[in-house]
Amino acid sequence: MQKINTPICIIGAGPAGITTSLFLSKYKIHHVLVEAGSLPQDKVCGESFIGRVLHVLKEIDPKWENELYQERIIAKSHQVKGFWQQGAKQLSWDFSPKSTPFLKAKRSIFDSTLLKKAQESPYLTYYDRCQISTYNSMQDGVELVDKHSTIQINAQLVILSVGEQINQLNKLFTDYPSDGVPCLASRIYYSNPVYQDDSYASEIHFFNKPASHILYTTRLPDDSAMIEIFMVKSDAKKINFKLEDCLLNSIHQSQILSKRFSNADRIGKAHGKSILLGSYPRKLSDNRFLIAGSAMGSVHVFTGFGVGHAMRSGQLAAYWAFQSLTQKDYSAAYLSQYDKAIQSRFKFDFFIGKVLVLCVKYPKLFFLFSYSIFFIRMMFLRIILRFTPN
Ligand SMILES: Cc1cc2nc3c(=O)[nH]c(=O)nc-3n(C[C@H](O)[C@H](O)[C@H](O)COP(=O)(O)OP(=O)(O)OC[C@H]3O[C@@H](n4cnc5c(N)ncnc54)[C@H](O)[C@@H]3O)c2cc1C
Repeated sequence: MQKINTPICIIGAGPAGITTSLFLSKYKIHHVLVEAGSLPQDKVCGESFIGRVLHVLKEIDPKWENELYQERIIAKSHQVKGFWQQGAKQLSWDFSPKSTPFLKAKRSIFDSTLLKKAQESPYLTYYDRCQISTYNSMQDGVELVDKHSTIQINAQLVILSVGEQINQLNKLFTDYPSDGVPCLASRIYYSNPVYQDDSYASEIHFFNKPASHILYTTRLPDDSAMIEIFMVKSDAKKINFKLEDCLLNSIHQSQILSKRFSNADRIGKAHGKSILLGSYPRKLSDNRFLIAGSAMGSVHVFTGFGVGHAMRSGQLAAYWAFQSLTQKDYSAAYLSQYDKAIQSRFKFDFFIGKVLVLCVKYPKLFFLFSYSIFFIRMMFLRIILRFTPN
């Protein structure tokens, strides 16, 4: 078995883990990043990110924004559109062109581009296909072993950026809370969709039948499009439809989407994912552990907060890891400062998360009077985006 000693080990190479690595390299700290799979990795995601992602990218390297834009890895949008009554009615909201745009990016490409950049650093040692399955707390660090027992990593501090993996976190921290609303999503890609204009507007399509659901569609920089259905799990169980069929049916029902996708070519199969819509930050630190990214319980698919949360929390985790290393203090008491930093940074997001969870738990709040409160929904979205801090 290969044995490695490192001050810091990051587990999981999603946006949270990679951002943590990029910032640790800025602090000139040697670290190891391990990933269970390998990148590029297909992840079910709305592929639309709030402006916070751009702010974090700029803080890593101000040149990247232009570079990623020129290489068509990201596209920008200053518009949100909402549709109801099968697309017969719509509301559109344009932001000021001076405001930070939404970003559109194919996750598999975005994540692997970030990883390539992180790998340029001499401070990073990266292992893929390395799923950590054993965590042993020792007096002088944490011993991590992968599931094939091929690698043993001894780290002073571990950053868990394993995504929505309650099972893993439950093994490590007893009674780890798993609040949130279980939801289901299914996603399809199309090439050659027909758009009426050049806009990369975020589009939300509301449907009430066979149960309340949302189609979220993202035009991607490589001229393809992603379309995703999102439904509360308890509703999905009641209907006599597979989620994918419901997605295709709703595309067909919508005046806008049926035109757009009628001659488009479907790429690959639909991919589904169950997801816990989060409302609350969970416990984020312990002796020699920090938790970053959606493992925090911060997935808000409606708002596009997920990747932004992941990257900003990765940056904060890197900062507190650096502090802890400098002070040689890896205690839960010292690392709880990271929890406080997250709470203070994401106060507004967590509040919105709670409201969203309430709306999803009690859909009548959200879908009350069906179409007539559509305007209120859009105003709600506007308020969220206006006040979310970077
Ligand atoms: C249906 C859906 C739609 C979404 N839409 C959006 C959206 O439009 N905009 C947005 O911003 N966010 C969206 N999100 C949320 C977004 O996908 C997540 O917030 C984001 O992926 C979190 O990044 P992360 O780095 O924390 O975790 P992940 O991206 O999940 O990465 C975690 C990584 O850890 C690895 N890993 C796990 N366990 C181990 C282990 N034991 N050892 C080694 N590696 C391990 C995994 O293989 C994985 O690569 C959506 C999520 C879903 C489910």
